[in-house]
Amino acid sequence: MQILSQSLLSVALALGSGALWAQAARKPQVVIVATGGTIAGAGASATNSATYQAAKVPVDKLIAGIPELAQVAQVRGEQAFQIASESFTNEQLVELARRVSSLAKNPALDGIVITHGTDTLEETSFFLNLVVKTDKPIVLVGSMRPGTSMSADGMLNLYNAVVVAGSPEARGKGTLVVMNDQIHSGRDVTKRVNIQTNAFYSQWGPLGMVVEGKTFWFRSPVKRHTTASEFDIDAVTALPAVHIVYGSGSMSPELYQAAAKAGAQAIVHAGTGNGSVPNYAVDMLKALRSQGLHIVRSSRVGDGFVLRNSEQPDDRYDWVVAHDLNPQKAKILAALALTKTRDAKELQRMFWEY
Ligand code: ASP
Repeated sequence: MQILSQSLLSVALALGSGALWAQAARKPQVVIVATGGTIAGAGASATNSATYQAAKVPVDKLIAGIPELAQVAQVRGEQAFQIASESFTNEQLVELARRVSSLAKNPALDGIVITHGTDTLEETSFFLNLVVKTDKPIVLVGSMRPGTSMSADGMLNLYNAVVVAGSPEARGKGTLVVMNDQIHSGRDVTKRVNIQTNAFYSQWGPLGMVVEGKTFWFRSPVKRHTTASEFDIDAVTALPAVHIVYGSGSMSPELYQAAAKAGAQAIVHAGTGNGSVPNYAVDMLKALRSQGLHIVRSSRVGDGFVLRNSEQPDDRYDWVVAHDLNPQKAKILAALALTKTRDAKELQRMFWEY
């Protein structure tokens, strides 16, 4: 009897440790959704770090070029688009988000990486941050040099992105952008340098770093995102037009009219300084607001945040301020907000909360 129970115990222990071993050996499952960009680019020679064609190399070739990926995750690729990111349209943004949302619902999947051109990576990362209902890591990655160039940055960036996408610590932090060893919040990050590998920057700092296959975290986002967001891509089929008008000395107020004529339901004013509006343009913006268009004051400065009722009496004019969102991010939030409301106060609440 004792012998029997002992052997039963050893079988149970063996089974238990087997299960534990299997768990330890299980690599995270990560899908790489490729959209093009320089990370899939190719140049004529190794010295072409800035002159090349974006969106050339298919995702399976990118994956095959980094055998080390298999050490950190079970990876498979999916080609969503093959475009340079300056050519992204709202329709493609919605299509991508819908695909990511459906992938995220697969219980076997741990994380999603999206390869993307760097030009509008910040728009896509913010959009996904607002509309995909998941706490699984969604990691966007690009490169500043094509894979054919000397010191190409795409290979390590992609490896790092897969590490982050498979990391349990990356869950619940909203969309992430991994570039140049840094992990940024997809909300905060912006492209600041157009020709160097340290192109991406967040004014409130990156969330962490990824070094030699390990993640190191220092901060968490506080703004509403993903599972806590009121936006859901499964309920969004199209985005209303929002256009940006760039502020400068001696600007032309007719530009706002042109934006309205082009169908804008909101205009993001990329104002000088604190989102300032020239005295000779105020009446035009007031008139457009009275026709139903929303006016969102952002700033062309880059850092800081636009203060409500400071440069202009926003309460009186029923305008909105973009808070710390740069004009291109403000455009994304304004478009989504307009799928829910036409009330400027509601729009303003969303700009404070997201
Ligand atoms: N124009 C390219 C793009 O955004 C630049 C890049 O990927 O770095 O697709």
